[in-house]
Amino acid sequence: MDWFHCNHCFKKSGLNFAVSSCGHISCEACIKSKQCSTCGVACSYLPITDQMKPQEKVFFMDPGKLIQARMENISQIAIFQQKQMERVMVHFKTKSAELERLLEEVSQQGHRQLSELKRENGELKKQLLELQRENGELKKQLLELQRETAELKKPLSQRRVSPGQFQTTGAQRVSLPVGVTSPVTPRSRALSNVGSGETQRWSRDRGISLTVSLDLFPKFTNT
Ligand SMILES: [Zn+2]
Ligand SMILES: [Zn+2]
Repeated sequence: MDWFHCNHCFKKSGLNFAVSSCGHISCEACIKSKQCSTCGVACSYLPITDQMKPQEKVFFMDPGKLIQARMENISQIAIFQQKQMERVMVHFKTKSAELERLLEEVSQQGHRQLSELKRENGELKKQLLELQRENGELKKQLLELQRETAELKKPLSQRRVSPGQFQTTGAQRVSLPVGVTSPVTPRSRALSNVGSGETQRWSRDRGISLTVSLDLFPKFTNT
């Protein structure tokens, strides 16, 4: 430090030195009072020793070395931050690759599902056409059956009223159905047989109990 000297007596070494609050360096021999030995103002003194605070020591250090030390420190800071950046870059690259892989997977899955849905749609369209064709066939058959039913209803409506035109209430007069009339002549049959045989069977088959008045058979009573 060839610039270092007592601002009052210009000695460079061999004594203890101090720096004043007004910015002047004095050797211990030149400090006589609370006033600066160089400029004469009231001041305080800081002894120049190794016990000074870092921010005080730097005033007595080589600026080139300070710059170098500061540059090294800045370099360490830059390297530290660079490593942090690399870590976060690696993380995001991994994450990005993972997301790209997932995206590709989802995309392929979507394509597969789309293809499958298109295929199913084609199948369903075919089935729909087939069902529409069958529906047309069935409609034709239904119309045909309705037409046949209408044809068949005509003779059926006539058949409904043909059997059993009789009544068992009131005067108890019975007009027997055609099939019940005995083919045998009444004279050859005993009176006790009336109400049994053909007539009973006919009424039993139909769940009807017939009470036949003898007045209905005047020829039988006369004999
Ligand atoms: Zn001095
Ligand atoms: Zn001074």
